[in-house]
Amino acid sequence: MNIFDKLVVLSLPFAPKALVKKFAGRYIAGETLEEMLDTVRQLNGQGIMATIDLLGEFIHQPSEARQAAGVYKSILEAIARERLDANISVKLTQMGLLLDKTLCYEIMDELVSTAAKLRIFVRIDMEDSACTTDTIALYMKLRRQYDNVGIVLQAYLRRTLQDARLIMKDLDKIQSKGNFRLCKGIYVEPRPLAWKDHALINKNFTFILEEMFKQQAYVGIATHNEALVWEALRLIDQYRLKKDEYEFQMLLGVDPELRNLLLDGGHRLRLYVPFGKDWFAYCTRRLKENPSIARHILKNLFTPSHIQRTP
Ligand SMILES: Cc1cc2nc3c(=O)[nH]c(=O)nc-3n(C[C@H](O)[C@H](O)[C@H](O)COP(=O)(O)OP(=O)(O)OC[C@H]3O[C@@H](n4cnc5c(N)ncnc54)[C@H](O)[C@@H]3O)c2cc1C
Repeated sequence: MNIFDKLVVLSLPFAPKALVKKFAGRYIAGETLEEMLDTVRQLNGQGIMATIDLLGEFIHQPSEARQAAGVYKSILEAIARERLDANISVKLTQMGLLLDKTLCYEIMDELVSTAAKLRIFVRIDMEDSACTTDTIALYMKLRRQYDNVGIVLQAYLRRTLQDARLIMKDLDKIQSKGNFRLCKGIYVEPRPLAWKDHALINKNFTFILEEMFKQQAYVGIATHNEALVWEALRLIDQYRLKKDEYEFQMLLGVDPELRNLLLDGGHRLRLYVPFGKDWFAYCTRRLKENPSIARHILKNLFTPSHIQRTP
């Protein structure tokens, strides 16, 4: 990121919320359950699957974790009621991981069990490296009981190849295959824990993806990077995978052209659909990753509305 983009990103928290929403609205599916369901219905109509994320990560009280789990249960019921092609993505910190691990497990156990009865899959998102070990441990505990749960691994972490191998070895013992989402990773991690070089992260992504395919794991290939999409397509071809043995995953609002290219190629595609009242922090994070959009916002802050152009 150049200095100008850094300045733009630093100024974002001071931008009026309404303005951020106008430009970043494409990354979120609204604030309410109904708005989100509307987005999912539209995506399903275009042959795109969804994974639904209730925004809001860090909580301070156990009651907030129970409340968030309650909203997820309403989402599960709505998916089943409307027969939507969707599952849910859950962050363990939102379910109390940093407050009380036992509570977090109890909440997740109930949520995954409810989802299992409705035949819906639960994806556990991966957060910053302080949560990695606990997230994997809790996932494995749940996975020994339920088939409908999977985890996310991040290619930028130096430990991930080993984690993937250990998880797959463990699953082998219960005659199961892994179900992963593989992404680069979104948090700022220190160099001893994570690769910093983009080319190396891409290499590691491809290396881990191949390890997963070798073990016949189902992988949600989560990237908007065309070089990585190309590597994934090469491996899909090499391992002669059928269309239902993997899927591509993208974030709502990011690169619709790539999305269409993948759909036109006949690949399964799932969009990450975040919604909820905590949209501001999420949008700011998206904008930080794509400062060209943030630049539009800043430009519009200082440009009279009659000469503004729609992006
Ligand atoms: C479905 C899905 C789920 C994810 N879940 C997790 C998770 O659980 N934990 C985690 O740490 N990370 C998660 N991520 C984020 C991921 O780790 C990356 O940070 C993000 O996808 C950017 O990496 P990239 O592979 O798309 O490639 P990049 O090379 O970083 O991006 C390629 C291009 O896509 C555009 N782009 C990429 N990301 C964004 C964005 N967010 N907003 C606007 N434009 C963008 C940019 O224009 C960029 O040039 C998820 C990503 C996806 C797609």
